[in-house]
Amino acid sequence: MRVEISEAAPQAGGRCRSFHDASIDRTIDNGNHLILSGNDGIRTYLDRFGARDRVLDLGDEFRFVDRDDGAVFTVRPNMGRLPWWLFAPSRRVPGTKGFDYLADMARLLTAPSTATIGEALPATRLRRALWEPVAVSVLNTSIDRASARAFASMLRLTLMKGGAYSRPMVARDALADALVEPATTYLAARGAAVATGRRLRALTVQQGRVTSLAFADGDVAVGAGDAVVLAVPPAVAASLLPGLDVPNEDEPILNAHFAVAPADGHAIAGVLGGRAHWVFRRPGLVSTTTSADAPRDGEDPAQALWNDARAAFPDLPVEMPPVRVVTEKRATIAQTPAMEAKRPAPRAAGLANLVLAGDWTATGLPATIEGAIVSGSRAAQEALYSAAT
Ligand SMILES: Cc1cc2nc3c(=O)[nH]c(=O)nc-3n(C[C@H](O)[C@H](O)[C@H](O)COP(=O)(O)OP(=O)(O)OC[C@H]3O[C@@H](n4cnc5c(N)ncnc54)[C@H](O)[C@@H]3O)c2cc1C
Repeated sequence: MRVEISEAAPQAGGRCRSFHDASIDRTIDNGNHLILSGNDGIRTYLDRFGARDRVLDLGDEFRFVDRDDGAVFTVRPNMGRLPWWLFAPSRRVPGTKGFDYLADMARLLTAPSTATIGEALPATRLRRALWEPVAVSVLNTSIDRASARAFASMLRLTLMKGGAYSRPMVARDALADALVEPATTYLAARGAAVATGRRLRALTVQQGRVTSLAFADGDVAVGAGDAVVLAVPPAVAASLLPGLDVPNEDEPILNAHFAVAPADGHAIAGVLGGRAHWVFRRPGLVSTTTSADAPRDGEDPAQALWNDARAAFPDLPVEMPPVRVVTEKRATIAQTPAMEAKRPAPRAAGLANLVLAGDWTATGLPATIEGAIVSGSRAAQEALYSAAT
């Protein structure tokens, strides 16, 4: 099919984008995006564009520092499906037992759809030191509100398949270079460039089909063999399609980007009991991520975040370097049991030639890049099908 893409923003990428920030003279991402090696959709996507080398594998372990007691430990799952690492104390969270992990995973897998992680898992050291930091960053929702089922869906595709599926991965240079530019180049080469700054204002629906799309520069007729993929955030989809029920609670993400002297290599560390949740290092940049959080009234969180970064990487200088704090107010939907129940299927609008796409639709995955890509692939299949029928 011939494809036309209209994007409201001045650039492609949506919530996964990069820009040069003059105040710190660095190219930064709107937020640090962590990928796991079990994200098959992302791997297929990168392979299609010949861009696999633009994402880096950071190794087989997760290192954590605990700001409450100064403890430093690593969690290192073994590669294979048989989880023998659970019975190797040096690979586990100190003070936990291998059986605890299996029991907690069973609790998550069997939790009712209404249960939160806080309700499904007992308040143990394992929950605080491993499940909570992973769940809050994947679901961008505090564990007392986040859906246990949604967390289980992520664990099923990663840790439960073995260490080979739960290795941390990040963009080598920047998100745009790794995940956006390869796709726009591929599309342009096939005559499907992205028209940016082109906001869809309205849809005309007649007899159960979309018949035209309204843009500022005029209307576009939707012909008999055409299909529309509506890949906009949930609130926009609801405003364009009155009556569509969508998840209507969001969560923010707080990121701080510190310009440091270029050092070799990339690294990541988790922080417990701090303001930052994760610290990412790449040449010339140290960035922190705090999920489901935003600066409180008048607060400047930069120094607290830098202190956490130094706790994770003690070789960093004492004096805080130039910083840019970025808060994405509506970073993702809140992944609570109530919002999970509202995630619509691709065909939920009930229109013969319209398919919904986006990380917030019912993908069976958390609202992440992987979910967005899986949703996009399914929407394309649906569009092909509806055009053919
Ligand atoms: C700070 C931050 C950190 C994150 N961290 C991670 C992470 O570590 N790992 C991970 O996997 N995911 C992470 N995510 C989530 C990830 O970015 C999203 O899941 C993914 O980008 C969603 O893609 P999408 O295509 O579904 O939606 P979007 O990226 O929101 O795309 C929707 C597009 O629709 C456009 N649009 C809106 N209205 C209109 C209109 N009327 N007409 C035309 N276009 C319109 C928007 O401009 C936008 O480009 C993070 C998100 C943020 C914000």
